[in-house]
Amino acid sequence: DDNRTPSTGGNYRRDDNRTPSTGGNYRSNENRPAGEGSNFRSSGDNRFANRPRTTGFIRPAEPIADPNASKLNKDVKFKKPTAEVATKVKSKSKEDKQVKKYKKLIREQISTTDIDKAVRETMAGIDLQHSTGGSRSKIKQKKKIEREERDTIRQRVEDEMANVLELTEFVTTGELAKAMNILPNQIIVKCMQLGLIVTINQRLDKDTISLIVEDFGFSVNFYSEQDSLEIEEEVDTEESLEFRPPIVTIMGHVDHGKTSLLDYIRSSNVVAGEAGGITQHIGAYQVELPNNKMITFLDTPGHAAFTAMRARGAQVTDIVILVVAADDSVMPQTIEAISHAKAAGVPIIVAINKIDKPDANPDRIKQQLSDHGILIEEWGGKYQNIEISAKFGKNVDVLLEKVLIEAELLNLRANPNKNARGTVIEAVMKKGFGPVATVIIQGGTLKVGNPFVAGTASGRVKAMLDEREKRVDLTEPATPVLVVGFDTLPEAGDSFTVLNSDMEARQVAKDRDILKRELSLRQIRKISLDDISQKIHEGNVKELKLILKGDVSGSVEALGESLLKLSNDEVRVLIIHKGVGTILETDVILASASEAVIVGFNVPIDVNARKLADVEKVDIRNYNIIYDCINEVHMALEGLLSPEYHEETTAMLEVRRTFKISRMGTIAGCYVQNGKISKNDKIKVLRDGLIIHTGTLSSLKREKDDSKEVDAGYECGVMVNNFNALEVGDHIESFKIIEVKRKLS
Ligand code: GDP
Repeated sequence: DDNRTPSTGGNYRRDDNRTPSTGGNYRSNENRPAGEGSNFRSSGDNRFANRPRTTGFIRPAEPIADPNASKLNKDVKFKKPTAEVATKVKSKSKEDKQVKKYKKLIREQISTTDIDKAVRETMAGIDLQHSTGGSRSKIKQKKKIEREERDTIRQRVEDEMANVLELTEFVTTGELAKAMNILPNQIIVKCMQLGLIVTINQRLDKDTISLIVEDFGFSVNFYSEQDSLEIEEEVDTEESLEFRPPIVTIMGHVDHGKTSLLDYIRSSNVVAGEAGGITQHIGAYQVELPNNKMITFLDTPGHAAFTAMRARGAQVTDIVILVVAADDSVMPQTIEAISHAKAAGVPIIVAINKIDKPDANPDRIKQQLSDHGILIEEWGGKYQNIEISAKFGKNVDVLLEKVLIEAELLNLRANPNKNARGTVIEAVMKKGFGPVATVIIQGGTLKVGNPFVAGTASGRVKAMLDEREKRVDLTEPATPVLVVGFDTLPEAGDSFTVLNSDMEARQVAKDRDILKRELSLRQIRKISLDDISQKIHEGNVKELKLILKGDVSGSVEALGESLLKLSNDEVRVLIIHKGVGTILETDVILASASEAVIVGFNVPIDVNARKLADVEKVDIRNYNIIYDCINEVHMALEGLLSPEYHEETTAMLEVRRTFKISRMGTIAGCYVQNGKISKNDKIKVLRDGLIIHTGTLSSLKREKDDSKEVDAGYECGVMVNNFNALEVGDHIESFKIIEVKRKLS
C-alpha cells in the first residue's frame, strides 16, 4: 500500500534533521542522504547559513507525510552514524543527555508508532464498518471512505505535531514569528505585555520564547548548539588504565609561604642526570621523588586560578596543599581555600609553615582549622598535616610523601593509549613561537604532529617543551607541557582535545567560535525575565559592562573573577568579553556597541584603537596593579548606584497676611523666620502642624520686585502654584531635594 509509506518516510526525515544534537555530525556528511546532507554544514562557510532550514535558526516541525518520502527512501540508504567515529558528540551532563534521549524517544514514538497505530486502529474500525459489502461499487466506496478517514487522522496527528516547534535558544523575534507563521508585531506586542521591549532582530531568551510560544498555542523543544561542541571521551576499559602522578595545587593566605614552598620544591628537585633545574615558568611543573614517583604541581598559587578553572568546568587538581603560617592565624583566604577545595571535592593536606620562626604556634593553627571543619589526623580527624619550613626546606620531603599517600588513596589512573585530552593552564604569545599554551594532559598521550582543538583555538602540535625547556615528543597523563602550534591563543581552563584530522579540529574550533559570538551577542542584548521582573520591582537595576584584556590568560581569569565579585543586588558587573593581548580596534567597537568600559591589565593600546576610542567616547582604563583596577571599578560602581534623595529644609516662613486677587489667586505676605527661601525651592504648606499642600512657588517678591531668594528676618510676598487656600497663621516650609551618593558596603 503506497499510501502507508509516508509515515516511515517522515520518520526517516526527522531522524536526519535531528542529528545535530545526537552525534557524529562533524564528519558524517557521507552518512547523509545526498539530497539533504550535501548542503548540511559543508566545510568552509558559515554553518548557520548552510542549514537546510529556511529560517536559519529554526527548524519548523516537519510535515510527516511527504509524498516523495517513499521515493527518497528507496533511492537513498540512510546509515545511522557509526561507531567508527571515534569522538562522539555529547550533551552537557548525564541528566541532560537522558532528558534528550527521552525526548527523542517520545518524538520518535509519536512520529512512527502513534501515527501508525492511529491509522491501523481506524483502518480496523473502517474494516469492521464496511466488511459487510460485496459488490464492486461498494468496494470502491469503501476504499474511498477509508482513504478519507485515513487522511483526516493523518491530518489530526500532523496538526498536533505541527504545534511543536524545534528551536535553538538563539532565535530572534523575526525568526520565531516565521516559525509560528505569524507577524513579528504580534510577538512584539506580546513581549510588551510581559514588560519587554524587543525589536524584530533581537534574540530572545529561552524563558521568553517558552512563554510566547505557549501563548500562541505551540510548544517548543529546544535543541542546543552547544551540545555539539563538546567532544565525548572514549570510555576507558579497566585494563587500559595505568597509574598516573597526582596534580597538586598549593593554596593559602597571602604571605603564608605558597610561593616559597613551590620555589623550594622546584629548586631542590633536579631530575637525575639533568643539568639545571626547572628553567622556565610554564604554569606547572613535575618533580621526581627519590622513589621514582612523580608529582605535578600547578605553579599558579592562589585561588583565583583554581576557581577560574573550576568555573569553566575544568577540574585539574587532585590534591590541595593548604599552607598556613604558624606565626599568623587562619586568615580569610585560608578559609576561602578550604571552601574552594571542599566545593571541588578535592582532598586537603595541611602544611603548617614557618615553623622555624620563634613565634610559631602550630597548635593555635590546628585549633583554628578545626573550628573551620578541618580536623587533622593528629587530632583524630581525616586531614593529613605536617609542620614545615618552606624557607629552609624542613619537612618538605615528608609533605611530598604525604601527597603520594593521598594519591594512592585516590587511586589516580588514566589510559595513556588513546588520543590525548587535557586542560589549558596558561596561554601566552611567545617570541619566535607564536601562541603557545601549557596543557596538562589528563588522558591519552600527546604526540608531535597531533591535530587538536582547545576552546576556539585549533592547530597541530609542532613542538612540545617541558618545564626544563627540553623538547619532548610524547606527553603522558598528568604531565604539563608547553604546546607550540596553536592558530590563536586558547584560554586558561579550555579543554584540549586531539582529533583525527586537522579539518575536523578546525571545524570544531570554528563552530565553537560562532557559538561563542552568538553567546556574547546574546549577553549584550540579553533581557531575561528575571532581570525584567527585578527591574520592575526595584526600578534601579544597573550594570557595568566590561571588556577585559590582560597579558596572560591567568591574570585575565583572576581579574575577571575578582571584578565579578563586586556585583551586588543593585549593580551587576558584566564581563562581555575577555582576552589576552593588545587592546585593539575591535575591542573598542565592541565596547562602543555595548556601552562597555575597557579594562586593560599590563597590555598596550593599539594606536588606532586609541583614536577610535576618542571618537567613540569609549573609556579605556589600563592598570599595572590588580588592586588599583579592582578599586577603581569599585568606585565606578558607586557612581552607578542610584543616589538616595533627601529633603533639606531651606527656610521656614510664617503667613502674616493674605490678599486675594481675582484671576491671580492668593498672595501671602510672609515673614522668613529662619533660613533662606529661593524661588525654585519646593514648599510645603503647614497648618496646625499638618502638611496640607506640597508644591512649588509661582512667585516670590520682595517689596514689589521679583526676587530670587529672601533671607531670614525679611518679609516677602509669596504665591503658591495651584494653591490659593493660604490663611494667616499657616507656615510655609521650603526645601531642596539633595542627591546623596551611596557607597557600596
Ligand atoms: P605567598 O604570598 O603565600 O606566596 O608567600 P611567600 O612565599 O611569598 O612568602 C611570604 C614571606 O614569608 C616571604 O618573605 C618568605 O621569605 C617568608 N617565608 C615563607 N616561608 C617561610 C618559612 O618557612 N620560614 C620563614 N621564616 N619565612 C618564610
